[in-house]
Amino acid sequence: MKNTRRKFLKIAGLAALGWSVRPASRLFGSGHGSHSAEGLLIASKHGAPEHGEGLHAERWAMVIDTRKLTPAIEKKCVEACHTNHNVPSIDTKQNIKWIWSAHLHNVFPEQAHEHIPGGTERTTLALCNHCEHPPCVRVCPTKATFQREDGIVMMDFHRCIGCRYCMAGCPYGSRSFNFMDPRPYIKDITPEFPTRTKGVVEKCEFCTERLAEGKLPYCVEVSEGAMIFGDLEDPKSDVRKALASRYSIRRKPELGTEPGVYYLI
Ligand code: SF4
Repeated sequence: MKNTRRKFLKIAGLAALGWSVRPASRLFGSGHGSHSAEGLLIASKHGAPEHGEGLHAERWAMVIDTRKLTPAIEKKCVEACHTNHNVPSIDTKQNIKWIWSAHLHNVFPEQAHEHIPGGTERTTLALCNHCEHPPCVRVCPTKATFQREDGIVMMDFHRCIGCRYCMAGCPYGSRSFNFMDPRPYIKDITPEFPTRTKGVVEKCEFCTERLAEGKLPYCVEVSEGAMIFGDLEDPKSDVRKALASRYSIRRKPELGTEPGVYYLI
């Protein structure tokens, strides 16, 4: 990443504030905050734990094949993500979402046109874009949201003060705020992943807990080949091959955020 020096200073600052370095296995301890700045401190240069069989990348990216997605596959992806990450089902405007289905003309309002194969009435999946230049990170006053060396934009729920600047800063609506205690709205709590509390912002984290175990994100796993995940900097990676094979677009490219999620049209 280009801002290595700034990140080093950030890490040094955290260390000065008393953050301790603990093993990665303790990142998912009890409480509602699984990921913390500690993860950054112990990260390898690829941003993933150095021990074990974890997956590593210079820059993680996702490619979504909009023509392969179907409403049924999208539903499976959303369910796999939300169930395993304890995302509550709140059926109001205060709902929480990490990944969701939306019409192509809503996801790409500036780029949609009537000649897109299959039309823009069909749906696709939207999620955090893990932008290379994430405005959400820039505006967070407590560094509760931060970017790993491998590009993944994380949330440290313990540090979130609920100011929602990140939500105002995100041009993609990728973040959700817990207006109420989410736990009563989780049908079956997955004990391996922490729940959150009222007053905290949350979003997709590209399944870093699975990458650390050498596994692909949940949504990719159940997407029947419609979602591809890999290293954008590796010319031989599946994402690069997919991008070389078809025309792709990203959300709101004019903003300069450089989204890490690509859509094959
Ligand atoms: Fe931040 Fe939004 Fe970009 Fe995700 S999509 S990194 S929340 S600005």
